[in-house]
Amino acid sequence: MKVIEHYDQADEPLISFEIIPPKRGGSVKKVFESLDKVMKYNPPFIDVTYHAAESYYEELSDGTIKRHVKRKRPGTIGLCAAIKHKYGVDPVPHLICEGFTKEETEDALIELNFLGIDNVLAIRGDAQENATPRLKNGTFNKYAIDLVNQIKDMNRGKYLEDIVNAHETNFCVGVAGYPEKHFEAPNLDFDIEQLKKKVDAGGDYIVTQMFFDNEAYFRFVDKCRDAGIKCPIVPGLKVLTRERHLNFLPKFFHLNIPEALSDEVQADPENAREIGVEWAAQQCTELLEGGVPGIHFYIMGDPTPALDAVDQLPLGHDVVKR
Ligand code: FAD
Repeated sequence: MKVIEHYDQADEPLISFEIIPPKRGGSVKKVFESLDKVMKYNPPFIDVTYHAAESYYEELSDGTIKRHVKRKRPGTIGLCAAIKHKYGVDPVPHLICEGFTKEETEDALIELNFLGIDNVLAIRGDAQENATPRLKNGTFNKYAIDLVNQIKDMNRGKYLEDIVNAHETNFCVGVAGYPEKHFEAPNLDFDIEQLKKKVDAGGDYIVTQMFFDNEAYFRFVDKCRDAGIKCPIVPGLKVLTRERHLNFLPKFFHLNIPEALSDEVQADPENAREIGVEWAAQQCTELLEGGVPGIHFYIMGDPTPALDAVDQLPLGHDVVKR
């Protein structure tokens, strides 16, 4: 089932989760343990992140240079197949532009279609100096909108080469939004203009970057609505669990941590997890009161902080959709 149908048919806000494949060579056992815990909460869908291939050079003892190409976290499509067929839940694989040719992306979409997967989240990925497309002479998607266009073209039967009797696809496409602005955008208005173009190209719903200040989310939604964006804008949340997150999260995700939260954690770092769970539960309560269509949790390796926050939520009553 499509994510957009889940939102359209829901009679209360949906709680969804996002997992990350294990590092190359790592066991999938921990991921399934996490999924087992999450499944008790009947999520409508689970996102699985995708990661660009990287290349690096190694100088060998004889002075020759060896080139390595590897993906740090392979396995997105396999995990999505497992989520669909082991748990019967809709998976949402992320697809990225960075490091992939359009031909490779088309192959991935054909695989997803054969697996009966109805959804993808189309994102650009972070530009990496060492990201390596694996096919020569391929064509590339530069921005997420180019990827949205490729997927929607396939839905209309338009493959990269003329294919007679093309297998029909009908993917629902999610796109990313940034309440505190994407770090490369000159300002929030410009960023929202690009987001509107992504939605107009066929983005069916938006999931936001994590944030810790609800005001940023509500301001962003108001601006999106003023710009004519009508689709669901789902807040993405992560639970802060360690004092080092105070530096790490702003640095890597270009977001603000409110002073009240950072002061509380710094005053009592031993209890960072409890403080983070409490903060997230409070954030969720306000977001639900504000009429969000759902909450999407970035759980990375450990779902328990997010589930502890969900346990505190006033779900089970009607909430007006924003
Ligand atoms: P885009 O929409 O392409 O925007 C990128 C920047 O370019 C923005 O500043 C935008 O304003 C600007 N822009 C867009 N179009 C144009 C244009 N035509 N001309 C000029 N400027 C333009 N990364 C991963 O590697 N794997 C993942 O699985 C993953 N999952 C994510 C999930 C979510 C919900 C979010 C919010 C992020 C995720 N990311 C992931 C990170 C994401 O790849 C980065 O944030 C990336 O830098 C931007 O991706 P985007 O899809 O928002 O890019």
